[in-house]
Amino acid sequence: MALIAKKIKGTEDILPRDSYKWQIVEKALSTEAKSYGFSEIRTPVFEQTKLFQRGVGEGTDVVQKEMYTFETKGGESLTLRPEGTAGAARAFLEHGLFNDALPVKAYYFTTCYRYEKPQAGRQREFHQFGMEVYGADDPLADAELICAASSIFERLNLHNIRLEINSIGCPECRKKYHAALKEYFSQFTDTLCATCMSRLEKNPMRILDCKSPVCKEIAAGAPKITDFLCESCDDHFSKVQQYLTASGVNFTVNPSIVRGLDYYTNTVFEFISDSIGAQSTVCGGGRYNGLIEELGGNPTPALGFAIGLERLMMVIEKEAPFTDKDGTSSLYIATMGDNAKATALNLVNEVRKAGFIAHTDIVGRGLKAQMKYANKIGSLYSIVLGDNEIETGKANIKNMETGEQKEISLGDSFAVDFINIAMSEEMDYPISD
Ligand code: ATP
Ligand code: MG
Repeated sequence: MALIAKKIKGTEDILPRDSYKWQIVEKALSTEAKSYGFSEIRTPVFEQTKLFQRGVGEGTDVVQKEMYTFETKGGESLTLRPEGTAGAARAFLEHGLFNDALPVKAYYFTTCYRYEKPQAGRQREFHQFGMEVYGADDPLADAELICAASSIFERLNLHNIRLEINSIGCPECRKKYHAALKEYFSQFTDTLCATCMSRLEKNPMRILDCKSPVCKEIAAGAPKITDFLCESCDDHFSKVQQYLTASGVNFTVNPSIVRGLDYYTNTVFEFISDSIGAQSTVCGGGRYNGLIEELGGNPTPALGFAIGLERLMMVIEKEAPFTDKDGTSSLYIATMGDNAKATALNLVNEVRKAGFIAHTDIVGRGLKAQMKYANKIGSLYSIVLGDNEIETGKANIKNMETGEQKEISLGDSFAVDFINIAMSEEMDYPISD
């Protein structure tokens, strides 16, 4: 094949044979989010570049190295969203949602775009599911949000994802911490990478997030933020931990978690899986009390998290693989001769209206080839319709797994009779939502 185009490096197609897995996961995520009182928000795939520069932060890897930024014909700089939080916060402000009953709770599914080196668990286009809360300052909000992420993993039968939490305090605590970090890292100016050197003056905390092994080793000996928390931040962090313990969520405190984005304050957390290799953070989040103000709104405490869906799918495949066969077909009506075609179309439509999946031949194959196709797509039942069946108004319905056949009437009660047969045989029926 001489294809004229191929998929872009770092992107993936989700094919019809696999998409049911995504649908199962998406349903689990949205059901869980709804049970916590969240509603879906959908925002555009591109935004003004300055939204991310301000909202994600100039000092971050995302803004410095990873954004897909382009100029429009009108000369405006736009960027494909690298994450979901900034766009959702912009919408919160632009539509005056701060006037609604607070807290506002929103969840989202988005594609994200980051120019990174593609590898397992790291793509240039990837998917995130996120949950955001606006207008809640109480540590119970942090604990509840972490519970939501935790119960998502429970719902998906993933019990080996560990939770690490930390507090990165408020800007006041961080002033003192930054000074201590600067002093510490200044001893290593010959060995830190160039990017970290540029961070040393303005944002030394970002050095803790550097992926370079040398910088990582140096960072391991750096002062810990938890030793610099002011009384109120310290109290907030203690309460989050108390609430998590009280709700049975296991966690460890990891003082080196600072998160990759600039807008975080106080609580930060990551859910990590040891079964998917180096890109092991499945979910990252925290409190970002500074963001709404940074974007031009009134100070509004807020918090959220995002789950990387590709990494989540990898964990599921490792730990709790999908067992459901994709129910692409439950009934296949094969036809012989032109008379049967119109009747078959009517019958499959009746079954579809009743909420079940049905196929008939739409490519004009011979009977043998039709049955081969029905087998390939995993039909659970089949019926062959020819002149004889049309004349008598009766046909045989065959259970493709057991080979057992039963008679079924082709009259008005066809769909109901079919469903009764399927139910009585306790077949695992794919019923559409
Ligand atoms: P990492 O340290 O792995 O680069 P990050 O701190 O940049 O992650 P966030 O911005 O917090 O990640 O995004 C939240 C989640 O989105 C991550 O925990 C991860 O599961 C997922 N994610 C981030 N970048 C990618 C990517 N390039 N490809 C696939 N998933 C990603
Ligand atoms: Mg990253």
